[in-house]
Amino acid sequence: MKKITIAKGDGIGPEIMDATLAIIMAAGAQIQIEEIEVGEKVYLAGNTAGISKESWDVIRRNKIFLKAPITTPQGGGYKSLNVTTRKFLGLYANIRPCVSLHPYVKTKHPLMDIVIVRENEEDLYAGIEHQQTDEVVQCLKLISRPGCEKIVRYAFEYAKQYGRKKVTCFTKDNIMKQTDGLFHKVFDEIAIEYPEIENEHWIIDIGAAKMADTPEAFDVIVMPNLYGDVLSDVAAQIAGSVGLAGSANIGEECAMFEAIHGSAPRRAGQNMANPSGLLQGAIQMLNHIGQTEVAEKVQNAWLKTIEDGIHTYDIYKEGTSKQKVGTKEFAEAVISNLGKLPASFKAVQYAKNTSLNLPTYKRKAAAKKELVGVDLFVHWRGTDANELATLIHKLDSDGASLSMITNRGIKVYPDGFRETFCTDHWRCRFKPAKGSLLSKQNIITLLTQAENLGIDVIKTENLYQFDGVQGYSLGQGQ
Ligand code: NAD
Repeated sequence: MKKITIAKGDGIGPEIMDATLAIIMAAGAQIQIEEIEVGEKVYLAGNTAGISKESWDVIRRNKIFLKAPITTPQGGGYKSLNVTTRKFLGLYANIRPCVSLHPYVKTKHPLMDIVIVRENEEDLYAGIEHQQTDEVVQCLKLISRPGCEKIVRYAFEYAKQYGRKKVTCFTKDNIMKQTDGLFHKVFDEIAIEYPEIENEHWIIDIGAAKMADTPEAFDVIVMPNLYGDVLSDVAAQIAGSVGLAGSANIGEECAMFEAIHGSAPRRAGQNMANPSGLLQGAIQMLNHIGQTEVAEKVQNAWLKTIEDGIHTYDIYKEGTSKQKVGTKEFAEAVISNLGKLPASFKAVQYAKNTSLNLPTYKRKAAAKKELVGVDLFVHWRGTDANELATLIHKLDSDGASLSMITNRGIKVYPDGFRETFCTDHWRCRFKPAKGSLLSKQNIITLLTQAENLGIDVIKTENLYQFDGVQGYSLGQGQ
């Protein structure tokens, strides 16, 4: 018997949760339920996080959390509970299966059956943003080796467990050679450990276009957070089933399962909502906790109910559907199909050994790290890079001298183009004399001199090489 936490959420949440629980309990799920209150009521009672400390304790104790959608009140100050939960609990993997239910649910892609594995904790979603000049704001894109290793390994282990044939990686490493480059590199390293699973890498732009056009060419797709956020919605939508998709958020200790749709407040309390999205989340949960036979039974009964044409209003279609039902009646139909297999859909069969081989991250020995330069970012309202260079060259010393200026990444000095548009945010790169290294003291001296000359340095970024390999990008056009 596995103890799990549930939250019935807001809007249609309580109805779809009751339906989901009725189905999985009837199928023989060995779970004991502990309910917590999260969402609108908690927000409006003055808790801006939407969840109390006591509820956190329950979630952390039980480790498995099945959550119905919640309503985040409009207006400032309320923090998204989903984002907080993912980050607090270290739920690094977001798994979203997107499968076509053709011909019962309309889609242009009848053969689509893909799983998006999205990194869930880092990338631009670290939310580290700053305004630095009148004209420029920045958001830091952080990609870590442990983050990459964990998500990529999860994707391959998932593929292995579910009998999937191929894992595809999407990045934009032709442009972001350091961040996306690391993700791609780790993908290549880990792929070698799974020779039985095909692997490939696509640049995200053409990969996304291909996925939207020919999704049947893909199987499992793993990608960094932002791309995964966007493309998992695209994938769910083109499968024809945003309202039918569930998602799992997996961490080393805890996991959270949910529907991908929201609380649909206009449909609340009318016994209309489709419980399938949350049910799909619950099936992922049952697989995760090792109750694969129950998961299989529920999924096959659900597929049979869909192909029998017993549909809630959102997917009901004259001609293909047979009976329009409410939330409760849909759940009853699934329950009456428990033990039966679908006839036209392929019945699912989940692997009985569910233990994924997910070793804890082992930090490698430290590399030899050498300081080989520094970028001074300067707020300057002029427009002529050569004029700025004359000013910045005054900082040159035996320790380091100006080698390049860029504006929004493009080199504007030396040998810039008059046509290049410039903002008030300039990066001035200082390098030591050839063959020598920079010291932190050199940087302090540079900053002190800049201050004395009235140069507005808004940040610095150290340039390192690790074991002799350059750890920073060149200026565009350099
Ligand atoms: P929504 O997903 O709630 O609704 C979009 C549309 O889909 C509506 O027309 C709705 O009636 C329909 N719909 C959604 N789920 C359905 C279901 N199970 N059965 C039948 N029809 C369904 O999105 P929204 O209207 O943009 O957001 C409503 C609220 O949900 C907002 O407060 C938002 O913050 C919240 N939200 C929560 C989550 C979550 O908790 N995971 C996710 C997204 C949105």
